[in-house]
Amino acid sequence: MIRCLLCKKISFVLICQTCQNNFLAPTLTTRYLADDFKVISFYRYGEIAPLLKTKHTHIGQAIYKILADNSLHLFAQNFSFDTPLYAVGIDDHVKHGYAHTAILAKALQSESITPLFRKMRAGNSISYAGKSLQYRLKHKRNFSYHDSRHRDLILVDDIITTGTTILEAKQAVEKAGSTPVFALTLADAREG
Ligand SMILES: [Zn+2]
Repeated sequence: MIRCLLCKKISFVLICQTCQNNFLAPTLTTRYLADDFKVISFYRYGEIAPLLKTKHTHIGQAIYKILADNSLHLFAQNFSFDTPLYAVGIDDHVKHGYAHTAILAKALQSESITPLFRKMRAGNSISYAGKSLQYRLKHKRNFSYHDSRHRDLILVDDIITTGTTILEAKQAVEKAGSTPVFALTLADAREG
């Protein structure tokens, strides 16, 4: 038996169903990056920051699954598109036993969306956390995208801050001949 991370009551899951209902109901926000590329986020960063910070701990995988079930999964169940779409987690290679963006992409599995795994890699694994836009622009992640087929993609990441990472991933996908249609992120960390 464990206790709910949020209310501390006895629970069978890390965040009890009552707290999931009370605190993890998403509020969608939309941003447009360069070339009007649309990014939909499900939470404000501040709302779920302590949960996102579990990413590199032993409970990170379970917490990301709970967040994904409450946001991306519901989105995908209510989403339809004329042509098949594929979901790709940005930089979904395994760092700590699991790839957090792969968990997010997987939650999008639905009639219209098929997740793809291990297609995008960063040539450079520097952390952008707390770094300025200038730093981010100077130190590119050097994404490469590998897929012999040309498809319409949804890019998936956990946090959007400046949008630099998503735009870099978008360029890598375009270079490989696929088409990014829009992006989904768990949380928008934009200030103000
Ligand atoms: Zn609870």
